[in-house]
Amino acid sequence: MEKIDLKSLSKDDVESFIKDAGLPSFRSRQILHWIYERYAQSLEEMTELSKKLREELAERAYISNLTLLNRLTSHDGTEKFLFGLEDGETIESVLIPDEERLTLCISSQVGCAMGCVFCLTGKSGLKRNLGPHEIIDQVISVNRMILPRRITNIVLMGMGEPLANFDNVVEALRRMTGVMVISPRRITLSTAGIVPRIAELGQLGLKVNLAISLNATTDSVRDVIMPINKTYPIKAVLDTCRKLPLQQTRKITFEYVMLKDINDSTADAKRLVRLLHGLQSKINLIPFNPYSDCEYERPDDIAVLLFQEILAKAEVTVIIRKSKGRDILAACGQLKARYK
Ligand code: SAH
Ligand code: SF4
Repeated sequence: MEKIDLKSLSKDDVESFIKDAGLPSFRSRQILHWIYERYAQSLEEMTELSKKLREELAERAYISNLTLLNRLTSHDGTEKFLFGLEDGETIESVLIPDEERLTLCISSQVGCAMGCVFCLTGKSGLKRNLGPHEIIDQVISVNRMILPRRITNIVLMGMGEPLANFDNVVEALRRMTGVMVISPRRITLSTAGIVPRIAELGQLGLKVNLAISLNATTDSVRDVIMPINKTYPIKAVLDTCRKLPLQQTRKITFEYVMLKDINDSTADAKRLVRLLHGLQSKINLIPFNPYSDCEYERPDDIAVLLFQEILAKAEVTVIIRKSKGRDILAACGQLKARYK
């Protein structure tokens, strides 16, 4: 009989598994507690369960774990983890300390099919989707490694397009908020703009924050740098955002990767103000993080500041995302690329 990976099961499935094994329901609560709050990597670690019970369970079930292949620490405190999966693929997670926050940036796919031209992950194409357990295990594994510290915020901004792996990402989000009890306000999902999925996510009422990678102010530029724009152009993305059920205090984040001479002009800044008019939004300006052999450049600091000033003057909430961990290849996909 093939053994069941308890980490691959939803909360309901763990409950059914325990029931089918003829065990009382509090056992499923114990198992969930050990996996998601005590970060147990094996049944043997679950010392609350008798040795006999652990041995019985071990005949039918096991707990999968990501394999840590590399861990790099930047002088600014950013840490990068390269994990191996059961089939030998690799993914990255990045831990970013910022004042009282400890944010983990996690991956949702091995590679990505969206093909954004500036993105290293996009260049490799899509290998496969991550399972819910592989998504949430990035949070579990890092939490285990950094004890007694604990991740406070989660962003789905690592490798992959989360909304292209919708069901698995939603299941991972449900476990984060329902089993690990992380507030959905502390979770942000970033998407290149798969319009029907944005609407679907809104309807699910998961209450996680949404970030949209806008990255351009005209369809002609966005068509080139983000091919998904040919299917879902800027207007379709923004119209969908306007219709989302938002609570009063929530804002949608618009990420804007600044590429020198491509999307960094003052005219772009002014168009951006007009595009987002009336939307509850904030803008994250991300100066392009270059990697070897890339054809794009990071704009000069002065161009970034000027761009920011135009937005700020128009009373748009805008921050420039600090470039963290540049010395440890922290841009999406860089450590994985080096490891090959
Ligand atoms: N696929 C999702 C989430 C992962 S990408 C999305 O595109 O939103 C997360 C963010 O990193 C996106 O805003 C993307 O535009 C940005 N990004 C990708 N490569 C980058 C680079 N080399 N420098 C700066 N930002 C980059
Ligand atoms: Fe995929 Fe996001 Fe990279 Fe685009 S920016 S290729 S959507 S990971």
